[in-house]
Formats: sequence, C-alpha cells, structure tokens
Amino acid sequence: MNIHEYQAKELLKGYGAPVAKGVAIMSAEEAEAAAKSLPGPLYVVKSQIHAGGRGKGKFKELGPDAKGGVRLAKSIDEVVANVRDMLGNTLVTAQTGDAGKQVNRLYIEDGADIDRELYCSLLVDRSVGKVAFVVSTEGGMDIEQVAHDTPEKIVTVAIDPEAGVSAANVTEISSALKLEGAAAEDAKSLFPALYKAFVEKDMALLEINPLIVMTDGHLRVLDAKVSFDGNALFRHSDIVALRDETEEDAKEIEASKWDLAYVPMDGNIGCMVNGAGLAMATMDIIHLYGKEPANFCDVGGGASKEKVAAAFKIITADPKVEGILVNIFGGIMKCDVIAEGVVAAVKEVGLTIPLVVRLEGTNVELGKKILNESGLAITAADDLDDAAQKIVAAVA
Ligand code: GDP
Ligand code: MG
Repeated sequence: MNIHEYQAKELLKGYGAPVAKGVAIMSAEEAEAAAKSLPGPLYVVKSQIHAGGRGKGKFKELGPDAKGGVRLAKSIDEVVANVRDMLGNTLVTAQTGDAGKQVNRLYIEDGADIDRELYCSLLVDRSVGKVAFVVSTEGGMDIEQVAHDTPEKIVTVAIDPEAGVSAANVTEISSALKLEGAAAEDAKSLFPALYKAFVEKDMALLEINPLIVMTDGHLRVLDAKVSFDGNALFRHSDIVALRDETEEDAKEIEASKWDLAYVPMDGNIGCMVNGAGLAMATMDIIHLYGKEPANFCDVGGGASKEKVAAAFKIITADPKVEGILVNIFGGIMKCDVIAEGVVAAVKEVGLTIPLVVRLEGTNVELGKKILNESGLAITAADDLDDAAQKIVAAVA
C-alpha cells in the first residue's frame, strides 16, 4: 500500500526527520489560508498523486508549455494561481502511464533553498536478507538512469538487524553522500530515525529523492515516497487510515477487501489458483505452452463460495483477459465449494471467454458434477498439463 508524500512526511516528522512546514488542501478555497500559515517568501505547490516524476510531469489539460506538477511560488497570490491551475487536472509523469492521474490534493510547502540534491532510500535487500540504505550523491533525478549510466555512484549499506544503524553505518552513508558540518551532524539522527520508521511501520520501500543539503548546511527530506508491506497492514490501523482508494486500481481494492492475493501481469490468460506454489506452477506451465498469464488471483486455503465468485469477477474485470484457467487443489478448500463459486460467478458476469477448470482433491467428483450440470460452457481438465494445453489452445 502506498501513501501520499504529505502523509509520508508527517509520518517521518514523528520520528524526528527534518521536513518543511506544509499544508495539504483539497479545494482552491483553502489555498490562501494554507499559504498564509507558512513563513514564505518561497512556497512550493506539489501535486499529491501516488507516482513520482511529478516535477517533470505535464498536465493533460494545460498543454506542453505549461509548468509541471511541482511548482515554486514567490508570493501568496502565485500560490493561489498555481493551485487554481493544477487542481482537478490530470498529471502525466514517467510513472503514471499515458492515462495520467487526476490531481485531487495539493501540498503547499515552505520552500527550501537547495545546495545539493541527494538520493536516499531504504528497502529490504533480499540478497543479504537485511534492510539496506541505498544512497547516491546524484539525487533529484531519475535514479534508474543513474543506476544504468553510473552504477558506481550508488552505494548500498546493509544494516545488521540485531545492532540497528551503528555509528559506523552512519559514517559510511554520510561519506558516500559527502556530508559535512551541519549536514553530517543531522545525519547522525536522521539515518537511525529513517531506519526505525522503516522497521516499526513495516515499510517495503522508503525513498527520499531528493534528500537535500540546504544553503544553511542542514539536511531536509524534500520528497518522500513510502510503500508498506500489505501483509503487515493488519497491525497498522494508523497506516490503513491513510489509504487513498482513488489512487488504487479498483481490482486491487476489491481483492484486498476479500483478502485475495491479486497480481496483475502482461499476458492474456487469467488464473485463479490457491497457494503461491500452485500459482507459480500454473504460470510456468502456461508459459511452457506458449502463452503468458494476465494475472493470478490466489483464493487461499479456505475460501467461501462468495470469495471464489469475487476472485472470478476481479479476474474477468481485466480487459486483457481472453481466457481463464482455474487451477485449484482442494485440500482444506473443497472442490464443490470452488465449483459452486465458479458457477455463481460465471452466471453473474455472463462470461463470454473460454474457461478451463482443473480441480483436484477433496470432493473432486462432486465439484466436477456441479460444473458439468451447470449448463455453462466450462471445459473440465484432467490434470495441470491438460488444463494448460486446453486454455492455451482456446485463446490462440
Ligand atoms: P517529483 O518530481 O515527483 O520527484 O517531486 P519532488 O518533490 O522530488 O520535486 C521535484 C523537484 O522540485 C526537486 O527535485 C527540486 O528540484 C524541486 N523542488 C521541490 N521542492 C523544492 C523547494 O522547496 N525548493 C526548491 N528550490 N526546489 C524544490
Ligand atoms: Mg522526487
């Protein structure tokens, strides 16, 4: 789950990270009061969407010459004019895709005088099984480009989970970022604070691009992008409360409501499975027979008929899906329950694309009977190999 920049900054501020004063607004009427509450004389008006590259982004409605989604303003009037210009329009950035995202919230922030723009992120580095800082002096710009062109300018510092961020870690990160004086002092509290926030809040990614050295020598978190581990959200009701569903894919919201693991991909065969291992095997075998999965929806161990129906609807809501493969092993989950869910969902959505179902396990005969007697165009398969060949043939 992702949150907005202003929410991420509020969160990090709670851990003692230096952020600018700012006010989030959702209507143009709030702009003047928001700007007046800030010290000035420099203000920043920032589009709040769950995508990066806003500064270089373009508003669809405003044409190619208009300014981007992050704008500097030198007076309250200028703030208000920019708010009126931006709010409600659609911002297209390198990360939004061509459709762009509608800007429904703006963050009005106290502007900083920047000396240097750095990059600092935290992530789970699976190669070492630790949380790691990834830092670079080349901040503010596209970090993927830096990684591609000058990988030596990106430094990774993994943190020992027992010890936390040590003084040696801070020194290593600070020297990689060439921090001196006040900035190096600030770093001593900032890096441990970021790590603490990351671990306590079960973040999956914390990206600060840029972390800046201001002209007064101090550090400031100028941009913040945070995503959380969905599997840990149950213990962070404060984070769940920050969810902005207008930013999310309707299918993923629906999936999370039903506690379904839904993963969209690029192919054209939708997959309903149970268990991650079976999901992987299903995708592999589709690939083996020459097609690619459009998605998979994992209904888990003990799903109800309603949950199966919900999964089915989520899978079919993707226009890329040209055929569906249901591949379920009924262990705790019984095959007749799956079959009933599939039949109910097929009737409800009025399925027009091929559907192949492979069931195995508890009550498999009953399950097959329900499918066969449903009067629906469902192709039953005997085993995984048979199922994959049938669905691949059906969509070819
Ligand atoms: P992004 O484009 O979505 O990554 O948004 P950022 O928050 O990173 O802002 C983009 C750029 O706007 C930054 O890299 C800065 O160059 C500039 N910017 C943002 N805030 C300020 C500020 O307070 N002062 C100044 N001078 N520039 C800023
Ligand atoms: Mg940025």
